[in-house]
Amino acid sequence: MPAAATAPVAGRAAPLSAGPVLNYTVAMPAQGPATTGRRRRPKVGLVSLGCAKALVDTERVVTRLRAEGYEVANDYASADVVVVNTCGFLISAREESLAAIGEAVAENGRVIVTGCLGADPSTIRARHPKVLAVTGPHQYDAVLAAVHAAIPPPHAPFLELVPPQGLRLTPRHYAYLKISEGCNNRCSFCIIPRLRGDLVSRTAADVLAEAEALVAAGTKELLVISQDTSAYGVDLRYAASRWHGRDVRARLLDLCAALGELGVWVRLHYVYPYPHVDEIIPLMAEGKILPYLDIPFQHASPSVLRAMRRPANQERVLERIRAWRRACPELTIRSTFIVGFPGETADDFAFLLDWLEEAQIDRAGCFRYEPVQGAASNALPDRVPDEIVEQRWHQLMQAQQRISTARLAAKVGRQVDVIIDETGDEVWGRSKGDAPEVDGRVRLDDPARLRVGDIVRARVTAADAYDLRADVVA
Ligand code: SF4
Repeated sequence: MPAAATAPVAGRAAPLSAGPVLNYTVAMPAQGPATTGRRRRPKVGLVSLGCAKALVDTERVVTRLRAEGYEVANDYASADVVVVNTCGFLISAREESLAAIGEAVAENGRVIVTGCLGADPSTIRARHPKVLAVTGPHQYDAVLAAVHAAIPPPHAPFLELVPPQGLRLTPRHYAYLKISEGCNNRCSFCIIPRLRGDLVSRTAADVLAEAEALVAAGTKELLVISQDTSAYGVDLRYAASRWHGRDVRARLLDLCAALGELGVWVRLHYVYPYPHVDEIIPLMAEGKILPYLDIPFQHASPSVLRAMRRPANQERVLERIRAWRRACPELTIRSTFIVGFPGETADDFAFLLDWLEEAQIDRAGCFRYEPVQGAASNALPDRVPDEIVEQRWHQLMQAQQRISTARLAAKVGRQVDVIIDETGDEVWGRSKGDAPEVDGRVRLDDPARLRVGDIVRARVTAADAYDLRADVVA
């Protein structure tokens, strides 16, 4: 299988939060014995491109394949068929996906394509006519049907037990928890609603049952994801469902409070600053969920936000950020921004830089505007020339680096909790302010007998623009 393609991020910048740009190396789940009796079991190779939401889709496909008795192949040569889960959000991501399909066709020949780019089968078939089947995002049944058609399931699937929490492609100590699919917004640069449809939320009981199974299996950190986490439950009219003999409403506050009872780190991603987000901050201040908000602001200038048709852009965001930080001083805010959106003037960009200074966003990723095929923003006038976009991108990243450096320097001498991600010659972990893959890390200088997934108390001894160094104190 190929190594992950490089994510279009700067330093440790974030992926565009609504857009699938994080790329994962395909980590194959642990395998059982290679055969059932004398019969060789069919093997499926998986290539997962795109964001954490796409990774969860791949996990669901793997879980079902394993439940049916298929094995997961670790290389093209041993795979009977290869499933490529694609990303179709940005032009660069589409190209990466098409290249990954091409590699799978060349190396293996029997390829099934799914994911966001699968919503545009003609593009895939035009470039790669030999693919066996193309399905769209989260069409698990269609993927399974295509695998069955390519290579029938083995006769004794019940011999292979799949753990109740499903199979995960993330390390054991953290897991993504997808609470809804699709999006009711219509941001002008985004084609996610067209690819994934309107918002469909899971019931609170369903989400909590999955979370509990993950915790029972050793997960120490739950990363709550969706396209629009703040909108959770709107489609269900916030209907309650039964969990441990009580009703829990499909409402973000109620879900967060219940997740906070599980005794693990709970981190919120893709939160839009709707008014009810204010209600979540006390849970963070009380330590029930992590003091961390990933809010994809994308811009600050009112006219650009209007042209982007962003949700919740009228909510006096700076004032609210100040209020959040007063209520919860430990709060870390990460965000993503787009520069060079059509019609963005020098004044709009200067407004954004000033806003960044005011807001003191802890972590930020920045994207150059791309005219994604099918996006409404393509019709907007006043395209920003490429060289100006490039300049603005560098300016924003430098400004953010200065802010990040100062904010991390202020942590030196303080104690932080660190979850261990990596042990060996060097020990690396993350503080409560660091999400895996997209944020900074903490290097521990006193690695005595630490194991991956341990959570330790450490004193920060040094900082740079992204990372911390710390000594373990407990
Ligand atoms: S909120 Fe906007 S950017 Fe995010 S998925 Fe929905 S339409 Fe796309």
